[in-house]
Amino acid sequence: MESSEARRKRVVEILRILRELYPHAKLALAFSNPLELLIALILAAQARDELVNSVTSTLFSQYRRAADWVAIPEEQLQNELQKINFYRNKTRAIQKACRALLDRFGGKVPDRLDDLLSLPGVGRKTANIVLGNAFGQSAIGVDTHVGRVSGRLGLTAQTDPDKIEADLLVLVPEPDRVSFCHLLQAHGRAVCTARNPGCAGCNLRDLCPYPTRSSPSPPTSGI
Ligand code: SF4
Repeated sequence: MESSEARRKRVVEILRILRELYPHAKLALAFSNPLELLIALILAAQARDELVNSVTSTLFSQYRRAADWVAIPEEQLQNELQKINFYRNKTRAIQKACRALLDRFGGKVPDRLDDLLSLPGVGRKTANIVLGNAFGQSAIGVDTHVGRVSGRLGLTAQTDPDKIEADLLVLVPEPDRVSFCHLLQAHGRAVCTARNPGCAGCNLRDLCPYPTRSSPSPPTSGI
């Protein structure tokens, strides 16, 4: 049984290796202010980040304030978002969230967790990603990559994202929390993929208890 101290040390080593592997790791969603990030995150639910970025690159230059998003006729916004799945629900979610920003926060995205969570359709993942990436706060937003890779690395035995977040908050040093998420996202895309983790060639192999770690490597010809 690994002690908490040993696990924390392992996290530091994992961070060191991943930083070498992905020195430019960052959030894949494009944004230039907290409102854009909030909207991009709503759109990114079960959608590819690249697709979201291609759609928002035009929209963010047209609609800059929460009031702009509220003022767009719903049908028009649906049309503008129709390349993205669940675009009708997402249209409503964006407009409700922006309406709440106008009603309660002067049109600004708040920088407190509780305030963000009070917005319609905003859960802990979105709130933490906004806090970490748009406001520079120490926060862990558990998306699909962070949840999956943390589990395989034995940093959590939980499957509920809120509980995964609680486990990671204990293990990941405060200044590293946002970059930890970026690094796990990068590794989750490049190597530790959902269906077929590349354990045989993974630089974290010696630090990872995932069962396939011990599966035999493919035979080398001539040996
Ligand atoms: S060893 Fe396998 S499960 Fe562990 S981090 Fe690497 S790819 Fe993922």
